[in-house]
This record gives sequence, C-alpha cells and structure tokens, in this order.
Amino acid sequence: MTQHDHPTPYRADADGFFGEFGGAALPPFLVEPIAEVAAAYATASQDPEFIDELQALLSKYVGRPSLLYFAENLTRELGGARVYLKREDLNHTGAHKINHCLGEALLAKRMGKTKLIAETGAGQHGVALATAAALVGLECEIHMGAIDVAKQHPNVVRMELLGATVVTVEEGGRSLKEAVDSAFAVYAGAPDEYFFAIGSVVGPHPYPSMVRDFQSVVGREARAQILEAEGRLPDVLVASVGGGSNAMGLFDAFLTDESVRIVGVEPGGEGLDGDRHAATMTLGTPGTLHGMRTRVLQGADGEPSPVHSIASGLDYPGVGPQHVHLAELGRAEYVSVSDAETLAAFRALSRIEGIIPALESSHALAHVMRLAPTLPADAVIVANLSGRGDKDVDYVAELIREG
Ligand SMILES: *Cc1c(COP(=O)(O)O)cnc(C)c1O
Repeated sequence: MTQHDHPTPYRADADGFFGEFGGAALPPFLVEPIAEVAAAYATASQDPEFIDELQALLSKYVGRPSLLYFAENLTRELGGARVYLKREDLNHTGAHKINHCLGEALLAKRMGKTKLIAETGAGQHGVALATAAALVGLECEIHMGAIDVAKQHPNVVRMELLGATVVTVEEGGRSLKEAVDSAFAVYAGAPDEYFFAIGSVVGPHPYPSMVRDFQSVVGREARAQILEAEGRLPDVLVASVGGGSNAMGLFDAFLTDESVRIVGVEPGGEGLDGDRHAATMTLGTPGTLHGMRTRVLQGADGEPSPVHSIASGLDYPGVGPQHVHLAELGRAEYVSVSDAETLAAFRALSRIEGIIPALESSHALAHVMRLAPTLPADAVIVANLSGRGDKDVDYVAELIREG
C-alpha cells in the first residue's frame, strides 16, 4: 500500500515532488509539525500492524470491498462499451472520503494526538472526519466559514451529533479559504495535541501520497474484481476530479498497466470560456497553493480565483500534484463536463439503474455517457461512483423547478 511497495516513475520523490509538482511549501511555523507527520507516516506505512488495523476497519466498519457493479441497463442504453461502476456510494457514510479519514485518524492516534482538526467547505469532509474520530476515540474540531455553516446546516448538525466541535469562521469572505487559515492557526498553536487531517490528495508532502495510499484500496479492489468479472483489465478508467482523491484511489493500481486509458473529469460548470467553472487541470497555471506546487486557477496577482461547480465537493481552485504529473507524462488525460451534462447524467443513472449518484460522481458518469457509445461492444469502462446523491436531491429538485 505504500510508495515503496511498487516504485514507479509516477510516485513522489523523497521530498514529495512529482516531477516539478508537490513538495512542501510551508511557513516556518508549520515545517516541523508537518515533517513529523511525514516521518510518522513513513514508518506506519511499512508497519503490518498499522496496515492490518486499517484494513480491519475498512472491512468491518466501512463494508469493504465495495461492489464493482455491471451497469447492464446503462450499457444497453448507451449501446457501446460495457460499463462497470465502483460502488463507493455503498460505503458507510455514503462516499469514498471515509477511506482516508480512517487512515488519518489511526495515524493521529499512533502519533499520540488527541484531536483531529480540519476545515470543511460543503461539510462532507467534516462529516467523514467526525465519523472516523467518533469510531477511533479522538476529539474532532471542524472549522467552517459562516456562509457555509448557514448553507450546509444538515452537515453541521451531523458533525455535532457525531461529537465534533464546529468552529464558525467569521473572518473575511467567511468561506473555505478563511476556514483553512483558521484551522491552521489553531493547529500551529498546539501541534502536540492536534493532527491536521486534509480531505484530498492535496496540501504539503506527505498528504498527497498518504491520502492516495489510503484511497488506493478502491483501485486494488476494482482491479481484482474486473479481472474476475471480465478476465482482463479495463480499457478505460473514469473518475471525477476535485482535489483528486477518489480519482487517484481508482487510478493508482492501474498506473503501470499501460494499456489502461485513464481519464479524470473536471467540473466545467457553466462553460470554460467564462469564470464559472473549476477546471484546474484544463485551465490552471503553475502556482503554489495550500503548501504545494500545482496547477492553480489564479488571477494575475496570484490569488486563487473564485470557482464554481454544480457539485460543491469539486469547487477547488487547485488539484492534487500527482494529477499534474500524470498529465505531463501523458499517462492520464483530463476532460471537463458542464453542470448541465452533469445534471442530465444524475437523472439518467437514477432512472436507468435505480442508483442516485452524488453530483460529484455524476461528472464521471456524464463522461462515460459520451464515451461508451464511441467504443466497441467488447470494450470495458470502469467508473468510480464516488458517493451517493441523497445529499443532493433537494438542490437538484430546485434546479429542475427553475428549469
Ligand atoms: C468530496 C467528494 C469528491 C471530490 O473529492 P476528490 O478528492 O476529488 O475525490 C468526489 N465525490 C464525492 C462523492 C465527494 O464527496
């Protein structure tokens, strides 16, 4: 499960660089605590006891392995490649995020920390982390902008029910950016107590590699499951990309299978010609954000741009550095789909397969719906259904009403 098990040109070097991207660009007060996390993870990731403990939670608590479901109705409807869905929506808590939150919680405990701390935007990372904290027996403190607290009230209630403390951030724009600053300030003041739990394959080294490793169970399972079902590897993998954790989780086990085409799908929002999107891989330029060198959607002043997506879990102006590296090496390709295509895919999967997908996952499905009809009937696509759409139904009903 670690980067040492199967070294490839796609992995980070000792300083966390994927080619020119990644690394750890930190203010002096964070260098020491983050280096401590890197050292602890380097040891834990080689320790069979840690690996077994995490695996036990994934099977007994999360319900892994998740199904690899042959979407027969959808396949028939699209009239092309055979479509399989990796059912991360069936995990406890309804998405892939629980996989890395449990890994981070176990590592925090092993390091002797008593509290998990993080920021959250839409609240999905906060809920998954609060769940992991409750299970593992740690305190949990979630920083959230005041605007998001108001918008995402049900997730605030969930976090509090799970025993977490939600800190409402009233500074500046009262949104995700201020929540990040607020959480880091508290963390820097007491790094012996707190473990900072990042919610995707982003941030300073070791987080992009560590979160990927925790998510890589998705691809390892999918690889074994498709070999069992089809007797061969898939032709194409498809996953949505916000920060990029569900995508890296699926892709990782297939990176050295050069015959497998790898496609990440970004939020094209209301179109790439305006500024209402979050297509960082497609339109971002090199920059530094949240402690990493990566592609960033940014203004001339280097400030991250405001971003938009119909799926709140995808609206991030950066992206995991390993994705940038994979794109530059030509190993993975990145496309975007619009809000409208996403909404159509959301409705189609619900009706055709009886599965309501998360709006984030619906980005991957929208691309599958474009791609499958162009491929022969013996081609195989595996798409990551990263989460369930129950959280999105009220918002979608509103969008449909507004037409
Ligand atoms: C948060 C979230 C995403 C986006 O995060 P990644 O790190 O890009 O995977 C995608 N799907 C679901 C269901 C999510 O909750």
